[in-house]
Amino acid sequence: MIEPSKVEEAFKRVEKENYDFRVYLKRHADINELDEQFHQLNKELFSGYDCSKCRNCCKEYSASFEEDELETVAVFLEMTKEDFLGRYIKESIPGEYQLNVRPCCFLKENGECLIEACKPASCRDYPFTDRPERLFSLLNIVASSEVCPVVFEMLERLKQIYGFRRR
Ligand code: SF4
Ligand code: SF4
Repeated sequence: MIEPSKVEEAFKRVEKENYDFRVYLKRHADINELDEQFHQLNKELFSGYDCSKCRNCCKEYSASFEEDELETVAVFLEMTKEDFLGRYIKESIPGEYQLNVRPCCFLKENGECLIEACKPASCRDYPFTDRPERLFSLLNIVASSEVCPVVFEMLERLKQIYGFRRR
């Protein structure tokens, strides 16, 4: 697996190839078979991978919260929901709650997450490679291969599986 600090540079070398591979998958992959391949790769590559040594996603993206997650995190931080909203959240579109800082203010020096026990689904589920209908989310997945070493590796493995010719 590529080092987290090297993934952005590595992505630049295969950027065009990854976007071409997306087009190839859109034309040739079976939706259910692709989901199963992502599922297997997700299981294999994340099992035993220590995300606390990476945390690229926590540095590059702003966590987003569902309405019903705000109260839970506020209570965990011993704050009122209103204080939590005022201090940490921006609501650029009504009903879309996003952290107002990046890198994430809950990321600790040692790579742990301060709100690990109740972090939002957007953090728990990232990079979303184990969700159904990945065929329709390949643009986001290719974008994630610039940030996440596991997604970078997934696409390399998928290229092998599909015999995608390197240009
Ligand atoms: S809440 Fe935790 S998991 Fe989510 S971005 Fe912040 S540090 Fe990372
Ligand atoms: S999900 Fe990907 S980017 Fe985020 S910490 Fe784990 S390996 Fe790194």
